[in-house]
Amino acid sequence: MATEKHTPVGYDDTPMLPDQPWRVHDKNRPAPKVVTPGASAGDAPSDAVRLFDGTDLSMWQSRDGGAPTWKVENGYVEVNPRTGNIQTKDEFGSVQLHLEFACPAEVRGSSQGRGNSGVFLMGNYEVQVLDGYDNPTYADGTTGAIYGQFPPLVNATRPPGEWQVYDIVFEAPQYNGGALKAPAYLTVFLNGIVLHNRKAALGPTGHRNASSYDTPHGPIGPLMLQDHGDPVRYRNIWIRPLGGYDEG
Ligand code: MG
Repeated sequence: MATEKHTPVGYDDTPMLPDQPWRVHDKNRPAPKVVTPGASAGDAPSDAVRLFDGTDLSMWQSRDGGAPTWKVENGYVEVNPRTGNIQTKDEFGSVQLHLEFACPAEVRGSSQGRGNSGVFLMGNYEVQVLDGYDNPTYADGTTGAIYGQFPPLVNATRPPGEWQVYDIVFEAPQYNGGALKAPAYLTVFLNGIVLHNRKAALGPTGHRNASSYDTPHGPIGPLMLQDHGDPVRYRNIWIRPLGGYDEG
């Protein structure tokens, strides 16, 4: 009946849920916010921040605050080798991130010298971008590694030159004063295949050193893309800030 949709639906005589202020099927519990999905899989939903839609880098800057010189054409942005990393002007904490990347079709170099770039959450936590297709390198540095810490569960890379998809859920670390309350957690899908399932990072990314949370950082930071000297391409980058996980 037409009037039913405005009537609270649920119960007020059911058991309380543990550690929640709600009953099972609580009729007073707020409904989730409506988000309209993108037209196709991978398209930005209605509440996403579109960081790069294929046209310009207005949401980005170089690390010194200047305009990035990475090349935008044909709906993608390409690393301008040895001009430096780029990062978003906005800063984020816990997020859902979607982006697509392609390593150079022409294979040059090997190991870490082949199609290397990287996605740095909060400017600190690198999910490795590498041409890891039939390219031996150290396991915690291959495509999808939490760099220097954890190899991906599997190598799910496509051949060089092909577009690939990252979907990442990042939970920002939490500090209580100078003490770590909760580490950063990363859940990473590459091309729809899970590489990390809520993996606790050991600390901000390092190279040839052990990471730790000994030096606290702020609750938000920019999304950064790495210039490692290779012309890696990116497209369709969007992000959704996430609330605290304690809120359920
Ligand atoms: Mg890298």
